[in-house]
Amino acid sequence: MRYDGPIYRPPSEADSLLVQATVGCPHNLCTFCMVYKDGVKFKVRPVAEIKADLDEAAATYGSRVRTLFFPAGNTIAMPVAALAAICRYSYTLFPLLARITVYGSSQYIHRKGPDQLQTLAQAGLGRIHVGVESGDDVILTRIKKGATARDHIRAGQMARAAGLDINAYVIVGIGGQDRSETHARETARVISDMQPAVVRLRTFVPKVNTPLLADVQAGRFQMLSPLQALTETMTLLSHITTPTQVTSDHYTNYLDIAGRLPEDRDAMLEALRRALGRDESTFRPFFIGTQ
Ligand code: SF4
Repeated sequence: MRYDGPIYRPPSEADSLLVQATVGCPHNLCTFCMVYKDGVKFKVRPVAEIKADLDEAAATYGSRVRTLFFPAGNTIAMPVAALAAICRYSYTLFPLLARITVYGSSQYIHRKGPDQLQTLAQAGLGRIHVGVESGDDVILTRIKKGATARDHIRAGQMARAAGLDINAYVIVGIGGQDRSETHARETARVISDMQPAVVRLRTFVPKVNTPLLADVQAGRFQMLSPLQALTETMTLLSHITTPTQVTSDHYTNYLDIAGRLPEDRDAMLEALRRALGRDESTFRPFFIGTQ
């Protein structure tokens, strides 16, 4: 098995087979992201090479593989014929395979269009993890996400129409103090229109080697305090109107909030209200992320 550059996977893919289909990220501009800032260039691995890695994995783990994740950042950007080919091939190798997942930003999803997304779904791609980060266009521009709120919504709707699950990532605090309320409300609006199967919450932590860390250190970006982050999360959860699963499966969060909307909304809001009564010093301290 060959790996090239940093390999990241969602926590929900902890038990998955990881076979690298792409290297780096074709966007690589997000101001909060350190993953590929050390110069790894985006490339798509040759299909024959990916198939050879799949063959090797099948020889070792064949009957045990139930889920498969193709890293790296924005693998959805690879040509549809190649991605569909490796998806189809995987199902021939792993008899119990139930799900194939990739990372994909909204701009690359909606560039694929309905027909190509349907081709991927028919080939067995099941889920795309999408970094929405925010639904506020001012923030999306500031963080250089490369997608607008409208792109997020169109990508979510296109993917769902094709039969693909969307897991949407939201970064609490990514708008800083000046846009916290707007960030929460606009993100709730975008999530409600995207209708992802799961919303995954992360809390903004400045990472080494990123423009946003420089902004934090220079005082140009005012981070939220723990209580402000929890207040923002309350506003977000209060305004999401689509049924969806919420999870906080990440070390950056101040509180582990999980449940289904709308059924568990009151319980999640109550947990947040209780946490708002805690002293700020009882939450995790500020730190600079290195991974
Ligand atoms: S699209 Fe994802 S991997 Fe690429 S720079 Fe942005 S956050 Fe990082």
